[in-house]
Amino acid sequence: MSTLSIRDLDLSGKRVFIRVDFNVPLAPGGEITSDKRIRASLPTIRYALDKGAGVILASHLGRPKGKPIPELSLRPVSLRLAELLGRPVEMAPDCVGPAVEAMLPAVGEVLLLENLRFHAEEEKNDPAFSKQLARLCDVYVNDAFGSAHRAHSSTVGMIAYVKQAAAGLLMEKEIEYLTKAVKNPARPCVAILGGAKVSDKIDVIQNLMKVVDKLMIGGAMAYTFLRARGEGTGKSLVEEDKIDLARELMAEAGSKLMLPVDHVVAAELKAGAESKVVDKVPDGLMGLDIGPKTIAAYEQVISGAKTVIWNGPMGVFETPPFDRGTVALAKAVAASGAVSVVGGGDSEKAIKSAGVADKISHISTGGGASLEFLAGIELPGVAALEVSRK
Ligand code: AMP
Repeated sequence: MSTLSIRDLDLSGKRVFIRVDFNVPLAPGGEITSDKRIRASLPTIRYALDKGAGVILASHLGRPKGKPIPELSLRPVSLRLAELLGRPVEMAPDCVGPAVEAMLPAVGEVLLLENLRFHAEEEKNDPAFSKQLARLCDVYVNDAFGSAHRAHSSTVGMIAYVKQAAAGLLMEKEIEYLTKAVKNPARPCVAILGGAKVSDKIDVIQNLMKVVDKLMIGGAMAYTFLRARGEGTGKSLVEEDKIDLARELMAEAGSKLMLPVDHVVAAELKAGAESKVVDKVPDGLMGLDIGPKTIAAYEQVISGAKTVIWNGPMGVFETPPFDRGTVALAKAVAASGAVSVVGGGDSEKAIKSAGVADKISHISTGGGASLEFLAGIELPGVAALEVSRK
């Protein structure tokens, strides 16, 4: 099954409701610290305006828990969006109700609704609330991939009450890259998984091991696996209650699963801490990055790959010198020429600090959503678009 694209819709003279992800990071004073998510939605908004639509934008921001919280108003976003678009953006006082219905946009106009989560009904996927949202528009577009793993009124419920529903340009790109990587990848297809916890990524490991030719593990996650294999791990982070599971995953994956063969260790985690490279982590020290032999082995696998899926850093990359493994692999992925799909904020940061972001095919905008996708879980927001196409 597939979804309709905004490019399949006739938008001329229509009022289009675009669910965007404007859940931007805010400084304590309310200043937007990164407008990346606003910029990511611009192609879809511009497309709708160019095709002669009036545009209603809707998003959540933070966790207001069903009550209006002035600090979580989307008003600062409306100002930033107006600057980026180079045209006025009206700010609605709410997201549903008569006051909003009185200010619906004409062709060429943009209206930003107030934070959807000021109403508890949004996260409950409440049918009456979904209907209230749906009556604002002629057609519905979902461009909020980062919220597609949530079955809320604005991502799922309202689709049942609109005439047509489609994926926006960003959503479409996310689905395309992730689907191809997981369902029909160019081979060899390899995955790099890192980060803090095995427990966060069990489903991803299980699903990817069916798909990929090699699965390279790094980060603190690796130590639970090494312990399951009977190796000493010193003071490294180990999830004691996941050791048996790690053993089962290793047995299932067989030779596909690659674990670090050396480590950068230190007595404590701090910038510039005295560190050394070891094959086995001794008592009293902790593994904080993959070592040079591991980097070389992983680089070799990456250089021969046609598809690379990456989620999670190989070490404590925020704290040099423990960023070397992650940065080296970011460069290797960029140099490989493979189709590369990267998810998770940390991997993205590593790729940017390695200066290779422009050589990555697709950096996913949705951390949680992309992990669920890689785990083979159907995303409700995507499924609802597919169903509406029938
Ligand atoms: P995640 O959110 O699961 O992708 O985990 C990312 C976090 O894992 C980052 O903050 C890293 O600093 C941390 N991390 C990666 N490797 C290690 C390690 N060897 N020891 C402790 N923390 C680690």
